[in-house]
Parts: sequence; structure tokens; C-alpha cells
Amino acid sequence: MPIRVENLCYTYNPGTPFARTALEDINLEINDGEFVGIIGETGSGKSTLIQHFNGLLRPTRGRVLVDGVDIWQKDVRLKDIRQKVGLVFQYPEHQLFEETVFADVAFGPRNMGLDEDEIGMRVRRALEMVGLDFEAVKARSPFELSGGEMRRVAIAGVLAMEPSVLVLDEPVSGLDPRGRDELLQELTRLHEKFEYTVVLVSHSMEDVARLAKRLVVMHRGRVVADGPVRDVFRMMDLLRETGLGVPQVTELMLELARRGKDVRTDVLTVEEAKVELLRLLRSEGRVR
Ligand code: ADP
Ligand code: MG
Repeated sequence: MPIRVENLCYTYNPGTPFARTALEDINLEINDGEFVGIIGETGSGKSTLIQHFNGLLRPTRGRVLVDGVDIWQKDVRLKDIRQKVGLVFQYPEHQLFEETVFADVAFGPRNMGLDEDEIGMRVRRALEMVGLDFEAVKARSPFELSGGEMRRVAIAGVLAMEPSVLVLDEPVSGLDPRGRDELLQELTRLHEKFEYTVVLVSHSMEDVARLAKRLVVMHRGRVVADGPVRDVFRMMDLLRETGLGVPQVTELMLELARRGKDVRTDVLTVEEAKVELLRLLRSEGRVR
């Protein structure tokens, strides 16, 4: 279920004194099975962009195609598009409202008109996919759960509609470090085990760099870089201009390289940095 955005422009409140252009001429493709990070500082247009992926916003100009079909064509049912492209909003737990976890996760499938057996199966599966124990949580009130668990329940509610693409807007914001790590791990697992196409929106390079294979960098309503994570990181100057910066380990390696050390500068994780630093120390005869 590829998503393709062509020459997309979007203006909030057009024709009024409050008109605000949020997106300018965006061209982008999300392919099946990809894990794409969309990154950019606050106000760069990330949330506006992804709300076009499932037809929540209508382009001021340009087109959005899902599976090759312009979703604003007359005969397309947006309800179908929203089922295929599952969008998890920022702070999705604010939208939990049912008395039990089961009822909350069942809400989407029920709206799709599925029968009770199918709904039950999907709720179980969705909760397990986000790492929750179905039997342990199904009858609990979502509001008794921890922040991280509530967020997983909200994500399960989207997964239960069995979308082909999962789009998450700042999914770890507001979670403590442990909740963050766990949720990011679950997302990686969803992508790897179930071959989910995942689009992860974040303003934090540290979070996306570890997970995404491709990065789309936004700045002032435009896409300013799009490519494999390491290639994007090499465009340091550009990243500085967007106010994003690279992860600290990458910064460290770049600094060593600037000082004439022979190290890789496309290092993304602490593990990789460790290997590289040991290699450097050995080559200088400082460790064996
Ligand atoms: P991001 O998600 O990257 O923080 P947004 O897509 O929320 O960026 O915002 C992009 C631009 O659009 C910003 O300038 C923001 O102020 C503006 N904007 C966002 N939502 C609205 C809205 N509902 N009405 C008017 N302007 C908006
Ligand atoms: Mg946003």
C-alpha cells in the first residue's frame, strides 16, 4: 500500500488574515515495508503532512495517492483510506474514553461493522502486538494503567483496524526513558516481525536515528533531505540549519575526524561508536 505525495501544498485558513502556509511543494513516496522517520523542528509541518496521508486534511494543491489512487477522487471512500493508513496522533491516550481496555481497542473494528468473534480476535491480537497481556488488561480501565501502557492501548486501537501502514506522530513524547525504549522496541518488532510499513514522526534525532532506515527531514514546510539515515547525517551543515543536530555519538566521531583522527563519521549508535573508538585506540597502540 504505497503512499505517494505529489506537489503537495497546504495553507491553513486560506483567504483569511490568519492564512498560514504549512506545506510547500512536497514530493514524497512511502514504499511497502519501509521504516521511515520524518523529522524536523516544531512547526516544520510534520503533523500537517501526515494528516494528508489518510485524508484528514485535503491538499490546497497537489495530490495524495494511496495504492496508486488519488484519494480525493469522487469515488474513493475516505473511510477505507483511514482504515488502510492507520494514524496514531500525538498523545493518543487522550482519546481513550471507554470503560475497559477491550472496549477501547474494539472501537475501531466495531465501527467497521465486523462481527463480535472477529472483533475479539483482533483486539487480542492488537494488544499482543504492542506487548500487552490480553487476559491481564482486557477488563481494566485504561485510566488505571501507566502512561506507557495507556499509549500502547491507544496504538492497539489503530492496529486492530489492521491497517497496511502505521503512521505515528511523536509516539514517545512525554514518556519516561524506560517507556520510550520499550515502545520504540515494540515498533521495531512490529516492523520486523509483521512487516509493517512504519512512518515515525519525531523532532528527536536520537529516537529516529536508531530505528528508521530512511529519514525525511522537514524545514519550514519543505522536505530538505530524504535518504538513507547515514547519508542524511553526512549533510551536517544542513541539519544544523534545521535546528536538529545529530546524535551525540555521531557528533563525537565528527569531532575526532575534524581533529585528524581516522574514524568513521557515519556512526549512529553507542555500540558502533565503541567498536570504532576501540579500533582507533588500538591503531594508536594505546590499548591491545
Ligand atoms: P510540526 O508537526 O512539525 O510541529 P505542524 O504541522 O503542526 O508542524 O505545523 C506547521 C505549521 O502550520 C506551523 O507554522 C503551525 O503554526 C501551523 N499550524 C498547524 N496547525 C494549525 C492550525 N490548526 N491552524 C493554523 N495554523 C496551524
Ligand atoms: Mg506535530
